[in-house]
This record gives sequence, structure tokens and C-alpha cells, in this order.
Amino acid sequence: MFEHHQVQVFIKRDDLTHSHISGNKWRKLKYNLIRAKTLGHTKLLTFGGAYSNHICAIAAVGKLFGFSTVGCIRGEEHLPLNPTLQLAKEQGMEINYIDRTNYHRKNEEDFINSLKEEHGNFYLIPEGGTNEWAIEGVGELIDEIEIQYDTIMCACGTGGTLAGIIKKVSQNKKVVGVPVLKGGHFIREEIEQLIGEGYQFDLALDYHFGGYAKVKPELINFIEKLYQNTGIISDPVYTGKLFFAAKDLIDKELIPKNQKVMIIHTGGIQGLKGFRQKFKDQSLLSYIASI
Ligand SMILES: *Cc1c(COP(=O)(O)O)cnc(C)c1O
Repeated sequence: MFEHHQVQVFIKRDDLTHSHISGNKWRKLKYNLIRAKTLGHTKLLTFGGAYSNHICAIAAVGKLFGFSTVGCIRGEEHLPLNPTLQLAKEQGMEINYIDRTNYHRKNEEDFINSLKEEHGNFYLIPEGGTNEWAIEGVGELIDEIEIQYDTIMCACGTGGTLAGIIKKVSQNKKVVGVPVLKGGHFIREEIEQLIGEGYQFDLALDYHFGGYAKVKPELINFIEKLYQNTGIISDPVYTGKLFFAAKDLIDKELIPKNQKVMIIHTGGIQGLKGFRQKFKDQSLLSYIASI
């Protein structure tokens, strides 16, 4: 798929970490979990949207490592539960719906104290899992790459994963983030807040396909083609947009010839379940059914 432009494409397969724990979510959680255990916590509480890979990841790590978990979900309950919340519930997560007004207060001390009255003491993991311990964990992903490359690319939601990458890679490499939300330039500010100013990186802002979890037939077709040609599974929310962006930038020679590109596959495979009606490829559909 990428062969016409003499660009070599490598993929860091963090999608192979766990089917319910996105690779980057594991990176972000690792030091938070160690900290929670060290501080003697037995319960994790976090925030997220109803389709969030982060919610699913917290539910799964709670089950794996013996924490009870509470997911504070933005908005109202919709029944039947969508596949993400269904999975979270199956892993033992307590689902707590929070209306949008209160959800905006998720970082306020008063509001968090009211959650403590309701749920008892907990270790708080912010929305998307992004905090200073997350940055440290993401950095380890870079340490594991032994191949030389010129450009490194990653999908962005909150920008936490990209921040960890930027902080760790040597500054002679080009870093390209692909925001999956509309208006993704806020990520630049977010990253400065997380790791400070002065880092060089690019944001490819034109690959959101209308916004978070929004898709177009072109994207769905691309995900099927990528799977048929390479066996790589990507999802419509994050990595499908990332791979689409990589291919487009290579086709337009915005990534120059003869470069080596490292694409971080952050996982997010469980997110495919919610989009299964959109796909036609039988083999991909049976894979989705098996997740
Ligand atoms: C959450 C997520 C991202 C985005 O991570 P941020 O650190 O919030 O930018 C990217 N890819 C996948 C698969 C995710 O689940």
C-alpha cells in the first residue's frame, strides 16, 4: 500500500498488548497503577465517554490487578448498553452516569469529594488517563524501538500519548500527531501544559473525518483495504484515521521519498465492535465478532 513512494513504513504493534486494553492506555496506566497500589488503594475511579477505550481499559486492568472500578460516564444511560460499556460491565466496573453539567466539574475538588462520599476512597485517574505518570509510561514505548526512523506518527485524543512520545524521541526526528477530533489545534496547548514549551512537532489536522468517532465511507473502505493488504486491524475512531493520514501524506510526498516512517499502532481494537454494521469484508467481520 505504501510501496509506490519508496518510503519504508514500520509499525510499532502496541495493538498486540491486550484486546480490551488499548496499547497506549496500558502505557499511560502502568505507573498510575503502581502508585495506586503503593498508596494502598483498592478502588480506581475515572471519567470517560460512553465509547471510550480508556473506560474499557480501566475495567480490564481493575479485573487483572484486583482493583474495583468505577466509570463515571458522560451523559445518560442508553439501553441496551453499547459494546464498550457492556465489556466494561462484564469486567466488573460500576457504571455511574453523570449529566453534562456535572461532568464539566470533573476536575473540581468539591465534586470529587462528593464522589468520595458516594463511592468511598479511590485512586483518581483523569479522563483519557493523561497525567504526569502517564507521560513516563508512554516514554517506555520509544525505548523499545530499535529500528532507525526519520518520522514517527501517532493518533491523538487528549494528546497525552503524543506528549510522552515528543518528550522521549530525539529532536532530530520529525513527530507528527494526527488528532481524531475536529479542531485539534488545542492539542498543542495541552502538550505544552504537560511537558513544557520548546518541543518541535507537527499536527496533521485534516484527518478527523468530521470529528470524534465520526466516519465516512472513504475511511471505512480504507480500513478494509489496509486489512486485506497487510492484515493490520485498525479502528474507525483512532488508528484508521492515523493510517489514512500516513498514506495520504506519503502519497502527496509531504513525507519525502526514501524516508523511514514509524507508525505507532496504539490499539483501540475493541472500538470496532460499535461500527460492525459499516463493514462488508467477511473476514474482518468474523474477527470483530471474536473480540
Ligand atoms: C485513547 C487513544 C488514543 C489517544 O490517546 P491520547 O493520549 O488521549 O491522545 C489513541 N489511540 C487509541 C487506540 C486510543 O485508545
